[in-house]
Parts: sequence; C-alpha cells; structure tokens
Amino acid sequence: DTIPAALARCAAENPQGEGLIFTDRDLRLTWQQLAEAVDRLATGLLDLGLARGDRVGIWAPNRPEWVLTQFATARIGAILVNVNPAYRLGELDYALRHVGVRALIAADRFKSSDYLAMLADLAPELGTCAPGALVSARLPDLRLVIRMGAGDSAGMLNFDHIAATPADPARLARATAALSPDDAINIQFTSGTTGLPKGATLSHRNILNNAQFVTGRMNFTAADRLCIPVPLYHCFGMVMGVLGCVTCGAAMVFPGEGFDADATLATVADERCTALYGVPTMFSTMLAAESFVHHDLGSLRTGIMAGAPCPIEVMKRVQTEMHMTEVTIAYGMTETSPVSFQSLTDDPVDKRVSTVGRIHPHLEVKLVNEQGTTVAVGEIGELCTRGYSVMRGYWGEPGKTAEAIDEEGWMHTGDLAVLDAAGYCSIVGRLKDMLIRGGENIYPREVEEYLFRHPAVQTAQVFGVPDAKFGEEVCAWIVLKPGQSATEAEIREFCRGQMAHYKVPRHVRFKADLPMTVTGKAQKFVMRDAMIAELT
Ligand code: ATP
Ligand code: MG
Repeated sequence: DTIPAALARCAAENPQGEGLIFTDRDLRLTWQQLAEAVDRLATGLLDLGLARGDRVGIWAPNRPEWVLTQFATARIGAILVNVNPAYRLGELDYALRHVGVRALIAADRFKSSDYLAMLADLAPELGTCAPGALVSARLPDLRLVIRMGAGDSAGMLNFDHIAATPADPARLARATAALSPDDAINIQFTSGTTGLPKGATLSHRNILNNAQFVTGRMNFTAADRLCIPVPLYHCFGMVMGVLGCVTCGAAMVFPGEGFDADATLATVADERCTALYGVPTMFSTMLAAESFVHHDLGSLRTGIMAGAPCPIEVMKRVQTEMHMTEVTIAYGMTETSPVSFQSLTDDPVDKRVSTVGRIHPHLEVKLVNEQGTTVAVGEIGELCTRGYSVMRGYWGEPGKTAEAIDEEGWMHTGDLAVLDAAGYCSIVGRLKDMLIRGGENIYPREVEEYLFRHPAVQTAQVFGVPDAKFGEEVCAWIVLKPGQSATEAEIREFCRGQMAHYKVPRHVRFKADLPMTVTGKAQKFVMRDAMIAELT
C-alpha cells in the first residue's frame, strides 16, 4: 500500500472522526477535513512544478503544516526530507545540499531561532529573486522556499496561499496512480546521539507497514486518542505517531511545538487521551513536574516509551502513577522504519518493564559477536535485524550503507543486546558506549540503573574517558533533583558493595542538565568531550 491510499481509506472509514488536533493553537480537523486539506496543498505543490522523486525539505517544529506536508508530498510522490528543527546554519546547509533539496518548507521561527533570518543568510539571493524562482550559488538544487506563519518574506512563497489551492482531483489521481510502495518517499535523519546525523532513505512499504504493526501491538482502534509530544521530524512522531494513527483512525493530539511537561500533561487530561508517547527523559520530567498531581491522567491506557534505555523505576511509575497499565517499550532505529521490538500489552509486567519485548511480525533477528558468529541464548551480542523494514540506504552514501547493511540484508544496529529463551530482548547498550577498563567490559546502562536508585539523583549518565593506567575510566554525569544535594564521595560509597569495584565511577560530576538531541536523547559524546576538557 502507499501512504496516500492509507489516508484515503482512513478518511473514508472515519470521515467524522477526529483526525488532527493541536491544543496549542485550537486546531481540530476530522479525517475527512484533513484529507481535503492535504489535497489542496498537494495540488499547490503540483502547480509549483514539484513531482515524484523531488526532494522537499521540511524544517519546522511540531505544527499542523508539518502533518499536511507529510501527506501532501506523499500524495504526489515527492520525497520528504525531515530537517531537524534544532539545526543552525551549517547543519541546514549540509542537509539541504547533501540530498539536493529542491523545495524547502520552513517555519518562521522556533524558540529563540529566527529561521527566516537564517534562510536569508543561507541564500542571500532570496532578497532579489522572484518568489519561487531562486537561483542560489551555494545551493544550486534549491529553487523554492515556502514559509509558514503570517506575513511575507522576500523571495519566499507563503504556505497558507499554497495550501489554499483548489484541489484538482484528476491530476492528483494521476500523480498517485504512478506511485509504487517501494518508491523512496522519505529521508529521515538519525538523532545524532553518537555524532553527525545520517539520512536514512525509506519507502512507503518500510514506514507504513511498520506504523501499522506499532499501533496494532497496542490494540489501537479509531476510539483511541494519542498524545504526541515527540518531534515530527523524527520517526517517533511521523511514523509511530502520525502514520500509526492513519492505519487505524485514532486521533493525533499534539500538545505544542517542542516538548513541555506541563503542556503535555494538560493535553492528556483535557483531551482525554488514551495513549502517550515519549522518550524516557520526557516521562521522568513529567513525573517530576510540580503540577503532576493536579492533572487527571485517568484516561490513559497505553503508549510507548522508546528511543533510549528505559529505566525500570520510571517504567514502574508510568504504569501506576500515570495509569498506563498497558504501556509498551519499543526498540528501533531510524534505519529500520523504526521499530523492530515491542512489548505486547499483555506481556507479563516484569518482561514489559525490563525488556523491549519480542520481535515484530515479519522480521528476523540475530545477535552476533565480533567474529560475526551467532551467540548463544543469554549471551551479549550485536543486534542485527532483517526484513521489510530495513531502509533502502543512507542517501548518497553507498559506503556507509554497506557498512550498516551486509550482503545478506542484515542491518547491523550497533546496539548490544541479549535474547532470552522466550525471545524477549534486553538492550544492554551501544557498542560505541561500552567501555573497557583494565580489560573488563563495562556497560554504562548497568551503572546508570543503580545510580537512578539514589534518592537525590534525578538522572545520570555514565560513559568512559581515556585513562593512562586503565585505558578508560568510568565517569558519571549526574543531575540532582531540585533542592537535593550529594557529594562525590557519597555517590561512590552508594555504588561500592553493590557492584564490582571496577564499575564504580571514578569521576563524578554534578551538572544542571544533560546535553540532548531534540529527540530528548542524552549525547554522551558531548559529555565525554566536556569531561575530557575538565580533567586535563
Ligand atoms: P545516531 O545514529 O545519529 O547517533 P540515534 O542512533 O540515537 O542517533 P535513532 O535512530 O533516533 O538515532 O535512535 C536509534 C537508537 O536509539 C538505537 O540504535 C538504540 O541505541 C536507541 N534505542 C532505541 N530504543 C531503545 C530502547 N527501547 N532501549 C534502549 N535503547 C534504545
Ligand atoms: Mg543510530
């Protein structure tokens, strides 16, 4: 199936069902209204000369225009390029150039970033060209810039005008009929947790099927209402969220542009959401919010915690204090559309808390050691997955693609995992994050889990820094709960006796926050560099 076909079916089956809600801007569209709005925008894009295979970038936080653009580009077979809303000039330049973006749809601003000013810097020719007829020295492929928000900007087209184009059903039908489920439809950049984000190229088949299995595992129906505080630019928002809802008719409820604990809690309560998505840091921030107890979260039933290791303590509190008794953990990566493991809502609680569940339908899994040999049940190995969900490749980087996907089609995830005899998978950590101190392998996750139990600790990250004597030494970067205090010696004392001596963090630092990606993942490479600078 293709994405436009899925939207058409959803609108036909649930015409009056609520489809898209943005509580920060009082927007409510039924599925029927959403499908009609998508057709107007898609016709507008065709009028601008955009067609199947053209790369159309979107650079914006969570806004209604994002969702419209996602469906409108798919309607005409253009390849949507997700541009990270946190990007600054250099990164934007790299992303647009790397994939040859022909049209860029951009927000006017996000938080303290003035996108329009950045665009004017990036392509000064915008100041003099006719709107939609850009010829840029630096970005030769970029011809059109379409801006969101009220007002006009030199050289740019206005989103609202294009989105108001009367729909041309015959032309749209022709454009959609030409599509194949295996067309590249989307280039998604990875989070940038371990370094420079990579552009994964995905097809309708990749992401639409995965989305269906994701919400299917939680038994979603058209009666469900999903709160989506995770970014649309990432697969968590646009695939597991938006496409996941399209495949079953559940309502998509967005609390705002960027993650805000209060706004998310208020949205869940006001909109009677039945499901909620988030990375672990979002859940722990919500649980720690002062306003937490004032929100009635009784409507919640299920949801997903994913994207990074899910601390067991947080999982337990989400099930009890947030009423998400059927919460699932999912594991995946942008390159695999994304999900490959997810708990079932009726998996035993201990499995749901401590593992990422079992493999998704129609996928294969194996764990291998450094020699590429499959390891025994209960042993740690690199997780490899194979099946319909594996990306077509990293855009324009056959070398990196070949490193990640072998000749037999196995995606090497770079994550370390263990499988039990029943097939439940536990993620041990990233291969890159594993540290070796004096010949002993240390998995930071294990030490972090322990630190989380300290009453003064809000969150903790463990990583290695080079050490002359042991090769690497263990560092802990700790954020304390508001008003709490602790000393380095206390933390080490807390660890001693509970874990082998070599795992006890040698360097402990208390910090105000963690360096994070926009997806809310802690960037260990940034912490590691900061710590190395501090120590020398
Ligand atoms: P980059 O590849 O740019 O460094 P990234 O790997 O964080 O960033 P994503 O594709 O967004 O980019 O994230 C996939 C990764 O997130 C996985 O490879 C895994 O390390 C981690 N991850 C996802 N889900 C879980 C989970 N449930 N438990 C532990 N780790 C997870
Ligand atoms: Mg990755």
